[in-house]
Amino acid sequence: MRIVLLGPPGSGKGTQAARLVERFQLIHISTGDMLRAAVAANTPLGQEAKSVMERGELVSDELVLGILEERLSQPDALKQGFILDGFPRNLKQAEMLDALLQKLDQQIDHAVLLEVDADEIVKRLAGRAEQEGRADDNEDTIRKRLQVYEEQTAPVAGLFEQKGVLDRIPGVGSVDAIFQRIVKALGAD
Ligand code: ADP
Repeated sequence: MRIVLLGPPGSGKGTQAARLVERFQLIHISTGDMLRAAVAANTPLGQEAKSVMERGELVSDELVLGILEERLSQPDALKQGFILDGFPRNLKQAEMLDALLQKLDQQIDHAVLLEVDADEIVKRLAGRAEQEGRADDNEDTIRKRLQVYEEQTAPVAGLFEQKGVLDRIPGVGSVDAIFQRIVKALGAD
């Protein structure tokens, strides 16, 4: 199974991805996690991404596509299937993903959109900032990331809707309840 997880920052993509990985033995591919790892390791790529991420803006499409292609092309991802978390984040990246999947002779089976309203998100991310201390979880950056989401990422859902693979899932309630909704939408319960 190949899944794209969509939803605003703080909508619970990472949490649900972890549950899905466990249930369906998929590979979790989070561009945010990969970028944070590159920043922590201070690689040239990480150096390029660091300040952009701290501002809550998007890292360049080419840079992200590079790390994605490398991971997606590895045998485990090709064989086991994957969950894409944090990609595609704009229409250009959606186009790049189409081209990459075509090259790998694969396609997305489900795009899961976790819907959570803006007030709830600001509340959640402020809480996460206190617990995890992520550099981009301060109030100004959160607002910026929400704006970037609305302007650039939300339209991506429309593309998957046109392909007939979009599942809209209310992202509120318990982690378990949300997970059950997703599993049901995947037709796998
Ligand atoms: P969140 O979903 O909470 O915003 P992520 O971990 O997905 O967090 O991403 C954190 C930051 O990493 C983004 O604000 C952006 O700067 C960068 N990033 C992650 N994925 C992408 C992507 N596909 N394209 C461009 N930038 C990205």
